[in-house]
Amino acid sequence: MPIPLRQNLRVGQYLMKQKLAGRDKFPLIVEIEPLFACNLACPGCGKIQHPTEVLRKRLSVEDVLAAMEECGAPMCSIAGGEPLLHPEIDRMIAALVERKIFVYLCTNAVLMERRLDRFKPSPYFSFVIHIDGLRERHDEAVDREGVFDTAVTAIKAARAQGFRVTTNSTFFNTDSPKTVRDVLDFLNDDLGVDAMMISPGYAYEKAPDQEHFLGVTQTQELFKQAFADGRRKKWRLNHSPLFLDFLEGRVDFSCTAWAIPSYSVLGWQKPCYLMSDGYVGSYQELVETTDWDTYGRGKDPRCNNCMAHCGYEPSAVVATTQSLRQSLRAMVSAR
Ligand code: SF4
Ligand code: SF4
Repeated sequence: MPIPLRQNLRVGQYLMKQKLAGRDKFPLIVEIEPLFACNLACPGCGKIQHPTEVLRKRLSVEDVLAAMEECGAPMCSIAGGEPLLHPEIDRMIAALVERKIFVYLCTNAVLMERRLDRFKPSPYFSFVIHIDGLRERHDEAVDREGVFDTAVTAIKAARAQGFRVTTNSTFFNTDSPKTVRDVLDFLNDDLGVDAMMISPGYAYEKAPDQEHFLGVTQTQELFKQAFADGRRKKWRLNHSPLFLDFLEGRVDFSCTAWAIPSYSVLGWQKPCYLMSDGYVGSYQELVETTDWDTYGRGKDPRCNNCMAHCGYEPSAVVATTQSLRQSLRAMVSAR
């Protein structure tokens, strides 16, 4: 099952609570970046170009707990930078899990096998390993030979120790339906990971490689072809059916970036983790001081190629909860 039943029920209850409370903007999952430093330098990355004084900053465990407490989200995704470089990452994860917050730890896996003994398997905790393609394609995407093999070894070791393991694959215009299928077949069938996330690369203004980001039509065509012949049903994708429809261009949504906010060493980022129009001190301030109607495709040119989950997965989740047919479809696809 791509998303555990316990997590689905908890998120369903949380959404119902927001509806009953009449809240129209609420966080579903917080993207936490406890540091921007990394041990890789991927050409498509928009995070590691911060100045040295920012790259040296770290969020403390207490900062992260206070942020989650203030916003009340049931889930968080810890990324960066490379979070395994954070000296207190194990204490941070343990404290979040103790509070029954579902935690995804996103890593490039370079340090993962060596650090496994610092973590404990839990239904509230999942590693998310960055794998953009098979060996040659992935090592090229991260600009270092051997990283694919290291990540595969770490995935096998984590699975053998009972950890929940998911993956995250970002695709660019150098991908084809075949490269998408090859990597997802490998992760799904050969490695047997619990679930997989997919995303078209967002054109970060700061990323050194600006030539290989996908436009919206290219993204839709790529996924439509990659998903054909029943593969979409076969793969354990960690996305709602409506979000996958969105990637294929079958439905369209408005951006709901307030539901996947970003909290980092610089504060709560306006409006989302992909774009920075300033930082504020709390989630409430983020919601109240951001002019959400000015963001999304067709409204801000920087949003025009965006089909990222932080803008559109919550839109798909909310649309699912508003339709009995879509709710049943999501339940069936979760089995
Ligand atoms: S591993 Fe992630 S954070 Fe590190 S350089 Fe690559 S994309 Fe950026
Ligand atoms: S469309 Fe939404 S999620 Fe995407 S860059 Fe714009 S504000 Fe961020």
